Amino acid sequence: MNSNKKITIIIFSMVSLLTIVIVALVALGSRQSGYVSAKKRAYLTADIVKKSLTSHMVNGNMDQRDTFLNGISELKEVKDLWIIRAKSVSNQFGKSKLTNEIPRDDIDKKVLENGKEEVLIDESLTNATLRITIPYTASSLDKPNCLSCHNAKEGEVLGAISLTFDIQEDRISSIAVLLNIIAIISVFLIFILIYISRKIKPYTSSFDSITEVLKQVHEGDYSVRAKAGVLKEDKEASVWLNELIEKLETVLTGIEKNLTTFVHNRSTNVNNDKLLTAQDIIEDISEIYNYKKTIETDLTKDDIYYRLIQVLKDKLKIQDFFIFETDLIKDERKIIFSTKETIPCCNISKNIKERCRAERTNTIVSSENFPEICRLATCPANTNHICIPFLINEQKNVVIHIICENEECLKHVKYQIGIIKKYLEETKPILESKLLMDVLRERNLIDGLTGLYNRKYLDEFIDRKLPYELREGSTFAIMFLDIDYFKMINDTYGHDAGDAILQKLSQTMKDSISENEFIIRFGGEEFLIIMKNPTEETALELANKINQDFGKLVFTFNNESFSKTVSIGYAFFPKDTDQIWKCIKFADLSLYEAKATGRNRVIRFKKELLKNGDKDSY
Ligand code: GH3
Ligand code: MG
Ligand code: MG
Repeated sequence: MNSNKKITIIIFSMVSLLTIVIVALVALGSRQSGYVSAKKRAYLTADIVKKSLTSHMVNGNMDQRDTFLNGISELKEVKDLWIIRAKSVSNQFGKSKLTNEIPRDDIDKKVLENGKEEVLIDESLTNATLRITIPYTASSLDKPNCLSCHNAKEGEVLGAISLTFDIQEDRISSIAVLLNIIAIISVFLIFILIYISRKIKPYTSSFDSITEVLKQVHEGDYSVRAKAGVLKEDKEASVWLNELIEKLETVLTGIEKNLTTFVHNRSTNVNNDKLLTAQDIIEDISEIYNYKKTIETDLTKDDIYYRLIQVLKDKLKIQDFFIFETDLIKDERKIIFSTKETIPCCNISKNIKERCRAERTNTIVSSENFPEICRLATCPANTNHICIPFLINEQKNVVIHIICENEECLKHVKYQIGIIKKYLEETKPILESKLLMDVLRERNLIDGLTGLYNRKYLDEFIDRKLPYELREGSTFAIMFLDIDYFKMINDTYGHDAGDAILQKLSQTMKDSISENEFIIRFGGEEFLIIMKNPTEETALELANKINQDFGKLVFTFNNESFSKTVSIGYAFFPKDTDQIWKCIKFADLSLYEAKATGRNRVIRFKKELLKNGDKDSY
């Protein structure tokens, strides 16, 4: 319903209510005045009758009073009239010859008894009568003096007169007056309503138009414009509103056109409302900007990967994914991260670039349309995979491998692809510089003779990576290795022979470890192996393997062949101690024990190896 109709109805209802109240008050008033005038007529008639009866009495022609009373009864409005004689009068003057002078009903009796008038109004739909019974009381003040004839006391009831008046005519004339009032008010009301409706129409119609336009804008349609109003005020309002919508439309279209490319059309597919789209785009851009600023100040490559993982997991709600980092030159692929501790369905270890479709084509590979798009991936039949590659430099390529188990997930990932790509684009230069720095730093962290990490690397690992690993719940085994009677080689065959044996042990260790372990040349012919998430069995197994494999090697120098052995001690972190350097010390103590108990042995740390003083603080 438009506002014009609403206002008209409100005014109509209010005036109608007022009319009803006025009519009701007038009806009550005219009814009351009808009774009052009927009563006045009754008193007048009663007085005339009284006076006439008195004169009849004084003149001694009481016998003819009937003729007089009948004459009065025949008056137009008098329906009935009768006289009632009190007992005291009958007693004094004898019973009336007229039978109708005795009380006809209880009202007559009551009036004779208490000397008070009684009024009875009888109304039906077609008839209306007023019956009034007025007492005649003895008074010495009347002329002639009542008490001069009647044996009565002052104020005693001598009789009464009952009259019934027809007040139907009064009622009809009141109703006619009321109907006239209603008719006049109605006509007046109609004219007022028409006048008001016409007067407010320009305001209400422009208000309706503005309301409709605001509604459409609120729903995201910025193409609508308000109609120009008739009056000066609403003309201005509609012009301002239209200008505002136009500005909004221009700005929002501009934001959408120019900034959507920054976030790869992520938002435009979802919102029809340009304002919400702009809000989404700006939010995305600001989040990407914050992300970029944060990773720029991150220290290591791992920190950057950590941020990227947080974005994928927490911000973009990607639930199941892997991050692969491929060394294209070395043809090696590392799993940087996986949400679930599972092997990826495309577990490639050789000819990675040729075999991985995403790496080869450097485009997104999705199994949605061709389930077997990547023939190498042996993902379960009910899953979909989407691989997003991003080439960092000639050597390194990173692939985000996302797995979806249902349609909802696939839809969500497809919606997020644009923004993922944007995050990857921002990550690329920073990751590239970190990789370069890593190469330089690694050179500084690698031992020239063996190609193994040096002690600096151990320090860095402890300072930077270990805290993160511990947060992730990783555990470690620290293995200390030392070649038995090594000094003798140098002394007997020369320093070069010693170096060659050091290289052989290094190679033996490299061949024995997996992705979860790394080796450090701790000093001279002493080495450390750090194992991630070991068990008692896997740690012992690795130590035994290195010990045995190295022991089997045969060295020939100066035409002399011989074998060498290695002693190994190891301890667990944080199982044996929650202090990393203490754990290295425990591994060293175990190595010392292996040396002391005959060498060529593998010894796991135990409390008993501690000296008494140390045992207390263990
Ligand atoms: P043990 O069984 O008790 O370990 O006896 P060991 O002879 O191996 O004694 P020790 O561990 O003290 O010997 C360390 C020797 O390693 C001393 C040093 O000359 C030699 N060495 C340290 N660094 C190098 C190196 O880079 N090259 C060579 N060839 N020898 C090294
Ligand atoms: Mg030594
Ligand atoms: Mg030694």
